Amino acid sequence: MNAADLVIVGTGHGGAQAALALRQHGFEGSILMIGRDSEPPYERPPLSKDYLAGEKPFERMLIRPRDFWAERNVQLRLATNVAKLDPAAKELTVAGGDTVSYGTLIWAGGGDPRRLSCPGATLAGVHTVRDKADTDRLRADLAAGATRAVVVGGGYIGLEVAAVLRKLGCEVVLVEMLDRLLARVAGEDLSRFYEAEHKAHGVAILLGAEVEAIEGEERVTGVRLTSGETIACDLVVVGIGIVPSIGPLIAAGAAGANGVDVDPTCRTSLPDVYAIGDCAAHANPYAGGAVIRLESVQNATDMANTAARAICGEPQPYEAVPWFWSNQYDLRLQTVGLNLGHDATVLRGDPASRSFSVVYLKGGQVVALDCVNKTRDYAQGRKLVEARATIAPELLRDAETLKELL
Ligand SMILES: Cc1cc2nc3c(=O)[nH]c(=O)nc-3n(C[C@H](O)[C@H](O)[C@H](O)COP(=O)(O)OP(=O)(O)OC[C@H]3O[C@@H](n4cnc5c(N)ncnc54)[C@H](O)[C@@H]3O)c2cc1C
Repeated sequence: MNAADLVIVGTGHGGAQAALALRQHGFEGSILMIGRDSEPPYERPPLSKDYLAGEKPFERMLIRPRDFWAERNVQLRLATNVAKLDPAAKELTVAGGDTVSYGTLIWAGGGDPRRLSCPGATLAGVHTVRDKADTDRLRADLAAGATRAVVVGGGYIGLEVAAVLRKLGCEVVLVEMLDRLLARVAGEDLSRFYEAEHKAHGVAILLGAEVEAIEGEERVTGVRLTSGETIACDLVVVGIGIVPSIGPLIAAGAAGANGVDVDPTCRTSLPDVYAIGDCAAHANPYAGGAVIRLESVQNATDMANTAARAICGEPQPYEAVPWFWSNQYDLRLQTVGLNLGHDATVLRGDPASRSFSVVYLKGGQVVALDCVNKTRDYAQGRKLVEARATIAPELLRDAETLKELL
């Protein structure tokens, strides 16, 4: 197919959910999804969790069964990179020079893993974790006998990978540039809790440590830090964030920088071009209207729905409450809201019990919660975040349930 009423670039979470939402909202035109990945749409979260651990088969990660898309009259063009966008002609150019024209375009390109720029960064055995092929390569190294790992980056993906590698019996050293883990996303209480947990599970954590070079001839043999120390290893996993995959949009004149700018209905500045998911920079009501990008399943799903509604003539602004989860060892972290700019935190419960919550306040209002093995706080706290409730810190700390504070 070289033309479709609606073309979706990206067959990841946002792209798949957009196709589903369009059909749910009654869109009857032709839909074509184009994506680089050679597999049909699948969930990414298991890539650093149970799929990496070998505990979840890939088929169970598929967002829908393989033949579902054709049955819904959604055409998939896999293993295809979109290289260029001509917004005046409403045409995409894919690798190889083929063109595809669209009536409406949804860009759901996600992001490419940020890579180290130091010497040795491209040696064999240096991994990122973004798609199935990445995790398969990492698993192949493990199967071939790699047992000493260095994880670069103490964000969620780095920590999840470290937890799985420990479970698989690897020696793990985690290198983080900042002075605490999860520094960009969580408050100090949560950072220190996860630091203690990973240490208790045998991960060596180096904070305030920077990579100077990856050593090795063809394959990695070690990681040299700016301190001069070298950590011998068989593999490296780099988890230092993503770069939004928006090159063709920006080259075509779309407004944006760190992500493509979208309005409350996910429209970009280009005519009939929407953008959703990890690559979309938007003013988020739960961030006090600040322009941010969110990298979560929630955001990809809810933006897909927002764009589909707008395209189907039922526009509603994007106002969904942000939520996220992370699994490490036997700890299930659930977060709701955004803690951006918080000025106080309240601890509910004792981290030593491995079941507790951190409530984030801004100007007295509850703006976010991080809940570790505490699903009830997460469910009830979500309502406090949605209501932008103002509640005295001592009540938040001492109440048996958050429900009674609503
Ligand atoms: C290892 C891992 C663990 C995660 N864990 C969690 C979690 O526990 N909880 C949570 O909420 N979120 C988690 N996330 C984040 C979540 O998976 C993403 O936020 C979500 O997938 C974003 O959806 P998206 O459609 O924006 O991007 P993606 O799902 O990344 O899809 C983008 C697709 O577009 C393709 N693409 C990009 N550019 C082009 C182009 N020019 N031409 C063709 N195709 C292109 C890419 O190849 C990709 O397939 C995790 C992500 C990863 C990688």
